[in-house]
Amino acid sequence: MLIDGFIIYQKYKKGFHKIKFHKTFTFYPNSSCIFSTYLKQKPMIRFLLVIAVALTVSCNSAQNATSKTKMTPVDYANTITAENLKTHLYTFAGDEMEGRGTGENGNNKAAEYLRNMYMDGGIAAPIEENNYYQNIPSEYFNDATKGKPSQNVVAFIKGSEKPEEIIVISAHYDHLGTRDGKIYNGADDDGSGTISILEVAKAFQKAANEGNGPKRSILILHVTGEELGLYGSKYYTENPLFPLRNTIVNLNVDMIGRIGSEKKGNDNYIYLIGSDKLSQGLHDLSENVNKKYTNLELDYKYNDDDDPNRFYYRSDHYNFAKNDIPVIFYFNGTHADYHKETDTPEKIEYELMAKRAQLIFLTAWEIANQEERITADKL
Ligand SMILES: [Zn+2]
Repeated sequence: MLIDGFIIYQKYKKGFHKIKFHKTFTFYPNSSCIFSTYLKQKPMIRFLLVIAVALTVSCNSAQNATSKTKMTPVDYANTITAENLKTHLYTFAGDEMEGRGTGENGNNKAAEYLRNMYMDGGIAAPIEENNYYQNIPSEYFNDATKGKPSQNVVAFIKGSEKPEEIIVISAHYDHLGTRDGKIYNGADDDGSGTISILEVAKAFQKAANEGNGPKRSILILHVTGEELGLYGSKYYTENPLFPLRNTIVNLNVDMIGRIGSEKKGNDNYIYLIGSDKLSQGLHDLSENVNKKYTNLELDYKYNDDDDPNRFYYRSDHYNFAKNDIPVIFYFNGTHADYHKETDTPEKIEYELMAKRAQLIFLTAWEIANQEERITADKL
């Protein structure tokens, strides 16, 4: 399905070129009509016409240069749309990915899907050109994958001023696979986080292409093996692509596509976990960005050390926090479809998911561009 999906996309692109060509072609009769009118004029009139056309063209181009509006972070955040998220998630959490069980065929297909999206979007791989995989040997998974290897998928937007300082934006792309013939699609867990950070990467790349790239570097990290015990993020922090001492923050996204059972009817909230545990600076920045741009209700219920769910220890950010790297974990809470074969793409709240993904983008933007570096100021 991945290969087919990719071909369909290529066909679509070719079709687009044809439409553009067709439009150019239909424009010709009008141009030749103007030209024959021109030829019918006397020499002096022709001369004056040429001057008039030249003046109009130069005037227009001067206007274009001055009227080019400056792009804001919100303009880039707005490129993350419900429609784009939906298109990707229907494929990524479709039956063709077979539940993305770590080391299984579907898990490899999912990794390939992400890699193709980065290559196609002109988003670089870190360290080595076109190498988007951090391979994890089978032995690392302690038999949990029945002897199969897997891989984290990585992409990189290099900072323009402080490229050595890294912000890691992570989400796990594995899920529970296929059990007793049932496919566990994992649309919310964690198709929602996976596709959100793909769109965040595309927004940063667009900014970079237009000369507005982040000052610090953004590492997009799609980890594997989360459902088996946070293996992919553990492997990354034990084998980091960039030194952990310069890894300044981890924003981890795990389940942001639904309204949790405790929040029925509330389409404007998100749970934040961990933001103030290591860094007051990060917590304040996160609050300010939300107040300024997104105005979601930020719920810290699960941030409480005494909360019996212990979510702080249950997703990939924990491997970064363990290494004294400040983190924020973005989460919608659990629901009736959590870890069931009924966690499917048509149940996702795409508008809300887009708003949450925009908050994550804008928070990363501020961390990447603000003057001071975020530090673990509570240690
Ligand atoms: Zn899960």
